[in-house]
Amino acid sequence: MNLEESFSGKEILNWRKVQLSKGGSRLELDWLLDIGGGLGSSELVKLKLFQNRKFQLDLSLKALSKLWVSHLDDQIPLQYLVGKCPWRDFLLEVNNSALIPRPETELLIDIALSKIELTSNEYGIWVDLGTGSGALAVALARALPRWIGHAVDCNQDALALAQKNLKNLALGSNVSLHLGDWWKPLDSLPGKVNLVVANPPYIPKKQLSEIDRLVLNHEPHLALCGGEDGMDCCRQIIKGAKKFLSSGGWLMFEHHYDQSNRALEMLIHEGFFEVDFANDLEGIRRFALGRNP
Ligand code: GLN
Repeated sequence: MNLEESFSGKEILNWRKVQLSKGGSRLELDWLLDIGGGLGSSELVKLKLFQNRKFQLDLSLKALSKLWVSHLDDQIPLQYLVGKCPWRDFLLEVNNSALIPRPETELLIDIALSKIELTSNEYGIWVDLGTGSGALAVALARALPRWIGHAVDCNQDALALAQKNLKNLALGSNVSLHLGDWWKPLDSLPGKVNLVVANPPYIPKKQLSEIDRLVLNHEPHLALCGGEDGMDCCRQIIKGAKKFLSSGGWLMFEHHYDQSNRALEMLIHEGFFEVDFANDLEGIRRFALGRNP
């Protein structure tokens, strides 16, 4: 046990009180202890019960205080400060070259897996367009070990991050990474892709200045802004999908809270069938999906 980073329940509870007096929310501070300190949520609840017991942390309370103050004073997202973000059943490395993966995007994987199960594809090819940190790619690689995956991003640093996450979390999976815009780097795959997932930038240009400061000031605008009406990238993804999808292959993507009708219309207009929407965790239509004839 590293004694420098081992603290009694009482010490940690006192530390928590002091940090909260500086500002911020208890939920976020507990996230810092859990993920940044590596305490784990199951240990977090034991602090009060076992105040004299020693709890091992990955970082000292002093180091965690520094991160907390940076978060409060400089308004930097904790995930970037800690460099980690839990998502589905794994812990991703994150940095400001890519969006912090959101909880609602986890649902895209559930939708994808449920559709694949119904069409009983034992193996096939999936594509993740605009992979960012690689969250969707890692989840697909873990869930579909017999499939071949392709993850695309136009940002070299984001692609390096996705590569690291795939190596750490889906070792041995058959995933290729491609640098470039949407479908452009995938020339060798026309008609072969069974599943396409994407969480493209979709915030309309005019609305960008209205989003949360924490997001606006630190997350890459390239991954957030989808042009004038927010749907430039959705259009490119849908248009290209026709050429690359196999017959019966699925396209599904995330969009902004008010883009469902337009997204579904575009899919129908391009000739997709079984066109449908799915809700996010708040019951808002957040995903559009359809199949290539
Ligand atoms: N849902 C993200 C947000 O709230 C936006 C993600 C995206 O543009 N793909 O900031």
